[in-house]
Amino acid sequence: MKVSIFAMKINYWDYLAEYSTNRGNYLAIADKVFSSGRLILGEEVAAFEKNFASYCNSDYAVGLNSGTDALFIAMKALGIKAGDEVITVSNTAVPTVAAIRATGAIPVFADVEEDSFLIDLNDMATKITTRTKAILPVHLFGAVCDVDKIREIAGSKIDIIEDCAQSCGATLKGKKTGSLGDIAAFSFYPTKILGGFGDGGAVVTSDEALAKKVKRLRMYGMDSEYYSEEEGYNSRLDEIQAAILNFKLQSLDAALEKRKNIAICYDAILKNVEELLIPKQTANMQHGYYLYTIRCNKRDQLAASLHEKGIGAKVNYPYPIHLMRGYSFLGYKKGDLPVTEKLADSILSLPIYPELPLEQVEAAADAVRQFYR
Ligand SMILES: *Cc1c(COP(=O)(O)O)cnc(C)c1O
Repeated sequence: MKVSIFAMKINYWDYLAEYSTNRGNYLAIADKVFSSGRLILGEEVAAFEKNFASYCNSDYAVGLNSGTDALFIAMKALGIKAGDEVITVSNTAVPTVAAIRATGAIPVFADVEEDSFLIDLNDMATKITTRTKAILPVHLFGAVCDVDKIREIAGSKIDIIEDCAQSCGATLKGKKTGSLGDIAAFSFYPTKILGGFGDGGAVVTSDEALAKKVKRLRMYGMDSEYYSEEEGYNSRLDEIQAAILNFKLQSLDAALEKRKNIAICYDAILKNVEELLIPKQTANMQHGYYLYTIRCNKRDQLAASLHEKGIGAKVNYPYPIHLMRGYSFLGYKKGDLPVTEKLADSILSLPIYPELPLEQVEAAADAVRQFYR
């Protein structure tokens, strides 16, 4: 499917509508930051860290330069190292696995549930060994993994790192993702639920010692200028991104509400179409709807028919990571994760972003329905 989604009439994702509404605010924010005399680790980052921790029902947030780094540095702060095992899933964005490998640890893949796309807890339990140091559940597409049950299975010696790159604002039993495990990683990549105007990320935790360690690691291992306490990195959130994120945080709940309304609109039109299944809901979970992903028959034909009509639709993700050439050294083969592999051939994500007009949502849903007539 080599169709450029940007040429289409109903975009899969678009930030320009939101930008044109708030352009005056963004220009004022940029001017304020550029005139402040401080471009790195100043007031804006500190304010954002405070606001974001509080938004996540957590005690600490530390701004970093990407979601990948947030995962990597969270794992380094937990002491995860070469040879350790970290259990995660293969149907995620590659960065989840890249971050595990950056620590030298070995990603161990558990299969996923067919209806929720989330980590299969029974399969996960069978993958725990004496080398397992952490479980890294991915709250995929904005749906929330049952971290309470993961904790029950894992016990207290195995750390839980939430990958919240797609789940900002989503909740389980009223608690926000990011507050459910030991430590969590967020991405502010532009397409994400809380997206900046460039790269950005954060680690969130309620463990003071871990938060301190993350702060040290993002700045060459330093507690004070020019003196390194331990080997560290350079992974800072820029002041300009923090200022933009602080502004967008104010309307995050409204943006989540718009995503939910789009999902409700899709659900209503698609729920009775026999050839497909709409995203799973559970009573305990408030979905973030980062993506609206259906399971369907004749997926590639459906996608082609939508593209022909100018409707952006994408597969997230068409290739399970355990079958990618870049990760063949891990030793997995086709058939090792049957549900993950099956989903890769049958899922399709439909256009969704807060400013997407509901008429366009209806048009996209109708086009899906018509395909199966
Ligand atoms: C986007 C994403 C990441 C990585 O975030 P970046 O900010 O792009 O580095 C990690 N995990 C998941 C599940 C993601 O969707």
